[in-house]
Amino acid sequence: MATSGKSAAVSHVGKIRSNNQDSGYAGRYLFVVADGMGGHAGGDVASAIAVKRIAETDRQYTSPNDAEFALHAALLAANSLLAETVFEHGELTGMGTTVSGILRVENQVAIAHIGDSRIYLFRDGELKQISADHTFVQRLVDSGRITAEEAAVHPRRSVLMRVLGDVDASPEIDTTVLETKPGDRWLICSDGLSSYVSDEKMASVLGTVPDTEDAANRLVKESLDQGAPDNVTVVLVDVDDTGDSSHIPPVTVGSAASPLVFEADSTRRPLRLPSLLLHPLKATQTDDSHFEPESDEYLNTLILEDRRRARRRRISWLVFVAVVLAAIVAAAVLGYQFTQTRYYVGVDNGQVAIFQGVQQDIGPIKLSHVVEATTIGVDRLTAFNRQSVETTISANTLADAHRIVDRLTG
Ligand code: CA
Repeated sequence: MATSGKSAAVSHVGKIRSNNQDSGYAGRYLFVVADGMGGHAGGDVASAIAVKRIAETDRQYTSPNDAEFALHAALLAANSLLAETVFEHGELTGMGTTVSGILRVENQVAIAHIGDSRIYLFRDGELKQISADHTFVQRLVDSGRITAEEAAVHPRRSVLMRVLGDVDASPEIDTTVLETKPGDRWLICSDGLSSYVSDEKMASVLGTVPDTEDAANRLVKESLDQGAPDNVTVVLVDVDDTGDSSHIPPVTVGSAASPLVFEADSTRRPLRLPSLLLHPLKATQTDDSHFEPESDEYLNTLILEDRRRARRRRISWLVFVAVVLAAIVAAAVLGYQFTQTRYYVGVDNGQVAIFQGVQQDIGPIKLSHVVEATTIGVDRLTAFNRQSVETTISANTLADAHRIVDRLTG
């Protein structure tokens, strides 16, 4: 029996960007997400060209290896097409795109991937990232220089090492074939989802929203709830064995859903000042993805940056500790000064004495001292007065304390 199922594709421009450079495709056997880059002109064109070209492989294959070969060839063909397009339209120079796709052959999937869009498999309640990010920060994680948690918030996390575009005639594409079975949910998404919505949140949506379309929409909504600084694209594939879904018409979303327009963007878009002011941190953190050819020099720059950042963090921490210590000392001094405005009458060496300060001590620190001794022995006092003096009698001022002493003997 043919293992088939339902799928959904959703793409959203997000809350900050002015155009959607992502493209998505949910076809009969093929499912793809592409995230374009290239500044104001190009990113949307790049992902659209790639997805339209790769969509041509959406047909039934006799073996998963054939499908893997066809998918790999389609990505290479898309790469050549991007180079040709840049050759004819110079204004598109530097455009590129990620591509993550799966091509299903019954109960197996062929996978092809380049860039930092992601392919996840949700199976038995667990979400597993299948694709590896071709980013510099992932390289730093792999070499043990930073942790995955640090990579997730790294300011240069969108710098890519590998993409399709006009930069490399033979790009390094990851391909593989994996088993799939009824109940599997394959999630393909752009970093507009994975950078802002945690794996736990994605897993919780996939585990609780059974309908394919609803789940895809919920995932996009999760990113929007986080402010969606980037374009968000989700293609979700539910594998089941209820029958053949190959009659369902393919869905294209994002920039590939619109006709291609190659026009130089001669007018620079104004800086989006309001969003910069509202989210200064986010606006700088979500700079366009860009491609850096793999080089040790760039890697070293990133490592140096990380060291500088760590040093800055250490210095901030030291300053914080110093400020807290200063505050504690100031509070102690003020507190001590306050205690020294108080007086009480008590006993010192068997005689009535006036003390400055308060009766309580803090550990070894005495908060009071005798300011005036008297020659009145406590054994001369009445039993009541003696007891009062032994438990001490508070006074607001020194004059007050004198009056108390007079009263004791009067
Ligand atoms: Ca993106």
